[in-house]
Amino acid sequence: MKVLVAKSAGFCFGVDKAVKTVYDNIDNKPLYTYGPIIHNNQVVKDLEDKGIKVINSLEELITLPKGKVIIRSHGVGQQVYNYITENGFEVIDATCPFVKKIHRIVNDYSKIGDTIIIVGNPNHPEIIGIQGWSTSKPFIIQSKEDAEKLNLDINTPLCVVAQTTFNNLKYKEIIEIFLKKGYYVNIKDTICSATKKRQEEAIHLSKKVDKMLVVGGKHSSNTKKLYQLCKNQCDNTYHIETIEDLELLGFGNNETIGITAGASTPMNIIQEVITHVRSTE
Ligand code: SF4
Repeated sequence: MKVLVAKSAGFCFGVDKAVKTVYDNIDNKPLYTYGPIIHNNQVVKDLEDKGIKVINSLEELITLPKGKVIIRSHGVGQQVYNYITENGFEVIDATCPFVKKIHRIVNDYSKIGDTIIIVGNPNHPEIIGIQGWSTSKPFIIQSKEDAEKLNLDINTPLCVVAQTTFNNLKYKEIIEIFLKKGYYVNIKDTICSATKKRQEEAIHLSKKVDKMLVVGGKHSSNTKKLYQLCKNQCDNTYHIETIEDLELLGFGNNETIGITAGASTPMNIIQEVITHVRSTE
């Protein structure tokens, strides 16, 4: 059996930084994370066992003893920082620098009067956070149809940003629509290359294997996206959260197995999957 592991599998730079920030501050309790630090149940459980509490709302936070609040890589809106500090808590900011850059763009361009267009999933925490940096009401869209429907003042420049994990091709098509309509567009390239690289490598790998394993949390949107991209190339693609999910899968001695993992999958889980697959030989 041949096992091929994608070089880009696992934590990206931003997630790695956020997780390290929590472990580096583990002795500074009370310590909270604003939302789960990553979409990985095993890591979140480990942190909970070490006394780190996940906060799901600001209302919940103010009922708790004063302490430090870690902002995860997705980032939050400006009003969340204000609320935390005004209520006597301290912020430790682990927002990914690539997301921080979008906050700055949206803040600067909304201040000079551009109409802000955010391309991405309106329910994703990253998009909710980005909205919170615009000084005017931004428009959130996620398809060419949404862009066609928008009827905005043609004399006001647009500033367009994308969710860091948005599909590059789809983003270009959306921008093309605004240009064709005659808007002056400040186009911002905000798609993170880590995601692009991981997806391209996964597609390439899944084309040449018999079975493809995509390791990551069942709720992680980037893992689900990765799974779908691989499934389009290789019918035998499986989304694996822990090695228990591998129990029903058989691996033939002559098979080539590909392995990749989402941005929130720790290396030890990837390693466990690799070891398990190799042990079935
Ligand atoms: S995917 Fe990119 S933008 Fe998102 S946390 Fe990772 S490095 Fe940052």
